[in-house]
Amino acid sequence: SIPLGYFGGIGRSSMQGILVKGANYLDVLASVTSVAFDKTGTLTEGVFKVNDIVPNEGVSKERLLEFAAAAEFHSTHPIATSIVDIYTAQGKPVAESLISEHTVRSGMGVDVTYDGHTVLVGNNALMKKYGIEFENEDYDGTIAHIAIDGKYAGYIVIGDSIRTDARQAVSALKNLGVNEVVMLTGDNEKVATAVSKSLGLDGFHAGLLPEDKVDLFDKLTRGSEQSGKVAFVGDGINDAPVIARADVGIAMGALGSDAAVETADVVLMVDSPLKVAEAISIAKQTRRIVW
Ligand code: ADP
Ligand code: MG
Repeated sequence: SIPLGYFGGIGRSSMQGILVKGANYLDVLASVTSVAFDKTGTLTEGVFKVNDIVPNEGVSKERLLEFAAAAEFHSTHPIATSIVDIYTAQGKPVAESLISEHTVRSGMGVDVTYDGHTVLVGNNALMKKYGIEFENEDYDGTIAHIAIDGKYAGYIVIGDSIRTDARQAVSALKNLGVNEVVMLTGDNEKVATAVSKSLGLDGFHAGLLPEDKVDLFDKLTRGSEQSGKVAFVGDGINDAPVIARADVGIAMGALGSDAAVETADVVLMVDSPLKVAEAISIAKQTRRIVW
């Protein structure tokens, strides 16, 4: 039978907007020594702003944005939303009827047919996958490259903000005895470095595809001390497999996908990484009462 104290722990958690899906996860939470966070939407707001539009030679800014917005029109990724929004803000609706094919490349971008042209919008990995050549500059931000009919057409620089309580969340975890707080992201090295420095993380891995995140997480789990448990915190966009795999998989908030909420062991009803520390704290207190 389950000791009564566990029900108290689950009840206390739920009052704080932390849904723990079983008494066993309180035990796991209390033993967490490593926490891996997904970046976009978890440590950051997951709301992007377009900062710059840089067409390649022979392409106009207007055409670049029109094609990018059309390609992103059916995508739900926050990067897509930011590009579609800045285009429609100019008073021009996306010509939906001209979009004939739409393929999402998870963790990379999109592949779309628009007005008879093949349009790719995404990161380095997407360009590489399709053999698109371009000069890799020293970009400052998250980059959406655009290729039209197999030729590089330019890029859009977008930015996301770090959540205001993310830094506090990292130090709270440290104070609870978590000795390793890291970040996994599909975004580029430069953005990852900036976020990691700003939050005082112990490490990060950038440029990861969804399947790379799973592999890296497994390595992290094998490397952690024998008794220590490893938590993964994500928003469910491109990271649901890792949430499923973790000793304790934590899905964050309102943006979290249905799949993530279903596979997660713990669901945070509030979009705050600080809730992870709170969950561990309640779990540790519960264990003290139960034992
Ligand atoms: P994170 O790993 O930081 O949580 P995501 O998994 O959501 O981020 O996305 C990883 C990367 O994939 C993004 O940084 C971006 O470069 C690229 N990407 C994903 N979807 C799109 C899209 N619709 N348009 C452009 N780029 C995208
Ligand atoms: Mg993500």
